[in-house]
Amino acid sequence: MTNQEKEKFFAELARPAIGEIEPYDARTMERPAIRVSANENNAGVPASVLYAMREALCLANRYPDSRNTALREKLAARFALSPDQFITSNGLDGLFTMLGRAFLDPGCEVLCGECTFGVYAETAKIAGASVKKIPLDDNWKQLPERFAQAVTAATRMLFFCNPNNPTGTYSAPDEITRMLRAVPTRVIVVLDEAYIDFADADKEASFRLLSEFPNLLICRTFSKIFSLAGMRVGWAAADPRLLESLYKVREPYCVTAAAEAGACAALEEREAALTAARTAACEREKLCAVLKECGLAYIPSAANFVLTLAGERHDALTVAFAKASIDVRTLFVRGAPAIRISIGTPTENREVARVLLENK
Ligand SMILES: *Cc1c(COP(=O)(O)O)cnc(C)c1O
Repeated sequence: MTNQEKEKFFAELARPAIGEIEPYDARTMERPAIRVSANENNAGVPASVLYAMREALCLANRYPDSRNTALREKLAARFALSPDQFITSNGLDGLFTMLGRAFLDPGCEVLCGECTFGVYAETAKIAGASVKKIPLDDNWKQLPERFAQAVTAATRMLFFCNPNNPTGTYSAPDEITRMLRAVPTRVIVVLDEAYIDFADADKEASFRLLSEFPNLLICRTFSKIFSLAGMRVGWAAADPRLLESLYKVREPYCVTAAAEAGACAALEEREAALTAARTAACEREKLCAVLKECGLAYIPSAANFVLTLAGERHDALTVAFAKASIDVRTLFVRGAPAIRISIGTPTENREVARVLLENK
């Protein structure tokens, strides 16, 4: 083959549906002094969780329990549901893959926010589905009622992120309930609560909706407050009959034994999770006060990050953060550059504040 023929060969090799998709690029700095770009828990892994994972490694010659029964039983006890209402996955990303494989046909329609977690749209595109983006309101809020109004005969799935990444806005349980009442049952409603533990909210409200709405799937992850992003454990709660469709397309051993052991131990670390939530809330307020003092617009957040609408000051701030070896995340909101700053440890946050104040 000539080079030109090879170009053509590789360009036409994959399914047309993935043609427009960009491979994921986390765009993180290499070895930054401070990493506040990925909404992780910078307090680190609790000792008991590390110990549990080390123990599990001793049995690494064995396949893990395919359905992660131990973890599902722990989740069931915690949230007063039954173990068969839970499914585990290789991070929530792995769960979204299952959703695409189980429920999305080419040509069907998927709804997600105008400014939200990118994986939802990718999941739809990979399946050959079309994506309809629902605009934020004038206060950058993602409104559940707008999602309900946008449903058409072609709509198959709706992704609602609450609190929303990257805007951080939160919608109360009654707004979510109204949306569910207005959406036809044939639309699968994926409620992504990856950051719910950081919100000053009833963290179990959505679980109480499961019996009323058979089309509801609630997603959570061990990557954020539970500080296990590197281990890749996500989970969802839904009617067992909905989950059975996901089990048909699930990779049989997608959660490793070490990851499951870590997740089980992390669930027991209630004090660590509470501390992380309290620290995030208090440090978030301090960061917002600094942003205000610097004349920077930001979106009030219920999560462990704040989106700063940096506008024309974006480039100068990015340079300043890079100089201080602080990794933050640039995103675009309606074409304008914004900086998402995760809440780190109090010491790290002081450094972030220092850089901001030096660049007012
Ligand atoms: C981080 C995040 C997830 C979780 O991703 P994992 O694959 O579990 O690490 C899911 N949804 C949103 C909105 C997130 O920000």
